[in-house]
Amino acid sequence: MPGDTTTTPYSDSAGFDNFYISTYGDTIWLRPPPPVEEYQPYQSNAKTSGESKPMDSADIAIIFGLFILFLALANWKKKEEEVPYAELSPEKRKKLARAVVEEKGTEYDDWLSRYNPYYASLPLHMRSRFMQRTVEFAQSKEFRFHELEEDESILILISAAAVQLTFGLPNFLMDYFHVIHVIRKEYVLHHDNETYYGHVSRNGIYISWDHFARGYHDYTDGVNVGLHEMAHAISYDVFLGYQDRHDRGFKRRLQEFRVEGGPVFRAMKEGDPHLLDSYAATNFDEFWAVCVETFFETPESLRDEEPGLYATICELLNQDPTRQDKIIDKRMAGIRY
Ligand SMILES: [Zn+2]
Repeated sequence: MPGDTTTTPYSDSAGFDNFYISTYGDTIWLRPPPPVEEYQPYQSNAKTSGESKPMDSADIAIIFGLFILFLALANWKKKEEEVPYAELSPEKRKKLARAVVEEKGTEYDDWLSRYNPYYASLPLHMRSRFMQRTVEFAQSKEFRFHELEEDESILILISAAAVQLTFGLPNFLMDYFHVIHVIRKEYVLHHDNETYYGHVSRNGIYISWDHFARGYHDYTDGVNVGLHEMAHAISYDVFLGYQDRHDRGFKRRLQEFRVEGGPVFRAMKEGDPHLLDSYAATNFDEFWAVCVETFFETPESLRDEEPGLYATICELLNQDPTRQDKIIDKRMAGIRY
């Protein structure tokens, strides 16, 4: 079952009927939302009637003094505040991530080796690229945990799903998205009252941790919510994200995927049985996301059954999961050696 397929919740999820994400800002509520505070229109205290007297030089001096004070305070405040992550230079971001890898790399390597089979299959020099990117990705996002204890390993493993998808590409931050919501289990969206395992909106990437973990636990069934949602995320990001907006090559290759995948998608819509999960026939966005799941989990089967489609995804993502070093064109991936 793919990531955001609507489905009957698992029997052990009884009691989660109120686990809603409001369509207004995608706020998650376990209870009915609190009442909106009464709107208080602004009322000026200044008298609106009577003669206004012209400013004298003392008034001007006071205003000027206040203005200087305001500038000084603003400058002081700016120094106090940290520069937002998005405004850091790529060099500074790399440096920050390197410091974290140096401190926690052994622990992260342990989590990734145990829970991400893609990482575990990489040769050593590729693992360090993967680790560096994972930390940079994690540092660039705000993770919000819902009904779940905040846990560093969750943050690293979800970031790793994004990095896996973009491993052959020069850009990997998906900077259109600032927030990743991690929800303990499946959840219901207000607007359609359906149950979700994950979804993507302009308010962030939403993932049910329970289903994310299941996806990587069985890495042979072609079902992986993490990869599914990251596939949706990248298709938003390539058009709207700051970094990827200029990647014309990726957009062109995405169009080639549309041409190559079209006949397969249409055949599935007409009910032809296929290696891809039937959820792929929902619409072409879901077709893309399900293709990504199958591409990574059962690459040999997809290659044998749909060689043209497989080759197009390899070219689009500049990687081939059946190769140990994954990346096809090292220069395109930004590897200089
Ligand atoms: Zn989907």
